[in-house]
Amino acid sequence: MRVRFAPSPTGALHIGGARTALFNWLLARHEGGELVLRIEDTDRERSTPENVEQILDALGWLELDWDEGPILQTERSERHAQALGALLSGGHAYLSNATAEDVKAYKELHGADRGFRGEPEAGGAVRLRVPDEGATVVHDLIRGETSFENVHLDDPVIARADGSVLYNFAVAIDDLDAGITHVVRGEDHLSNTPKQLLVLEAAKAVGLGGEAALPVYAHLPLLHGPDGKKLSKRHGAASVQELRDAGYLPEAVRNYLALLGWGAGDDTTVLSTEELVQRFDLERVSRNPARFDEVKLRWLNGVHIRSLSVPELTRRLEAFTGRQGLEGAARISQEKIHTLADFWPLAGSLFDGPVDDPTARERWLGADGRAVLADVREALAQEGGFDESAVQERLQDVLQRRGLKPREVYQPLRVALTGSTVSPGMFESVALLGREETLRRIDRVLADA
Ligand code: GLU
Repeated sequence: MRVRFAPSPTGALHIGGARTALFNWLLARHEGGELVLRIEDTDRERSTPENVEQILDALGWLELDWDEGPILQTERSERHAQALGALLSGGHAYLSNATAEDVKAYKELHGADRGFRGEPEAGGAVRLRVPDEGATVVHDLIRGETSFENVHLDDPVIARADGSVLYNFAVAIDDLDAGITHVVRGEDHLSNTPKQLLVLEAAKAVGLGGEAALPVYAHLPLLHGPDGKKLSKRHGAASVQELRDAGYLPEAVRNYLALLGWGAGDDTTVLSTEELVQRFDLERVSRNPARFDEVKLRWLNGVHIRSLSVPELTRRLEAFTGRQGLEGAARISQEKIHTLADFWPLAGSLFDGPVDDPTARERWLGADGRAVLADVREALAQEGGFDESAVQERLQDVLQRRGLKPREVYQPLRVALTGSTVSPGMFESVALLGREETLRRIDRVLADA
């Protein structure tokens, strides 16, 4: 099996493109086949080296590798010209000056159902000669077989008058030359497929591509947002870089993208990449649109975060925040964060000191709160252990002695230590700060009367 991923570098790699890349990668890895990366950069205005870099960067972050390429489509223009020449001299293509009006006039004469056929002439664009007989059959592993009667198909333009080839021609020749066996791509390319097959058939008829069979196709279902509309930017994170910056783990993104149109067959949703490679197949790809739902991605990311070892989570958090020495905080935050980006707002004050949140201060550090805090200070200042359970015991003592509810003790303490009402667990946070720093932060509040 040889598959390919063929992005056009006209912008960043978005969720749809990333899903296509992943499905091709999973298929190649599952089958022990090869994945070819082809950059379809023939749109000279919109294809920039920066966009190519962005795509490679996105694939790198997703940890999707390839076996051949990247092949740049623009570097193959000589080969395209040569293949075009072969079709022309074999009589499978011809020069034509026909305009849209000519095509319309032709159809008025022959019936709207009858595909346009031109007469060869000197100069003009190149049209492919579609056979009058027979049918062009798309074998789609997801959608089944669709047959197009050739008599209904227009002779498509495959190259401009200046000799530069059109998109569908280039794709077909590139797939043929790369020995692609399975073309797996988004449903938006469905309508290109008969044209590409006609080019492939003509190319084979003049001896291009050797003995290899024509590729089979698999068109992946459309992506919708949670509102059932075609996926777009307003549904949240759209490019792979945005997902990375939002603090998602690549393995969680792979897991989630795999579920956009594919299912493991049972109700399993949490899958390691190894399991995905083992279980992936095209048979269970759905024809129905798949729903991208960032709420579910967040949930799944949380599951993957909790399955990391603490040292590994620490490494990821340190890379994400650019800070060092996060292991203790990583350990006590692991259960509370869904993304790497959730970490700093939760635990950053343990490092950088309390944040300024006047609402929290007014609510919890009034006269009552400060009185509680004074008791808390005394309890924590006593000699003895200062690990999580020791801290818990001391704080519970205060609670019982004063007959208070937990939040009446823990919230003033939390606000004193972090400035806000969000933090990792109280005992864990206090133990992590240590006695000295904890007392210093409490004293700052008490001195501030
Ligand atoms: N270059 C096309 C795109 O980025 C994909 C073409 C194909 O897979 O055949 O949408």
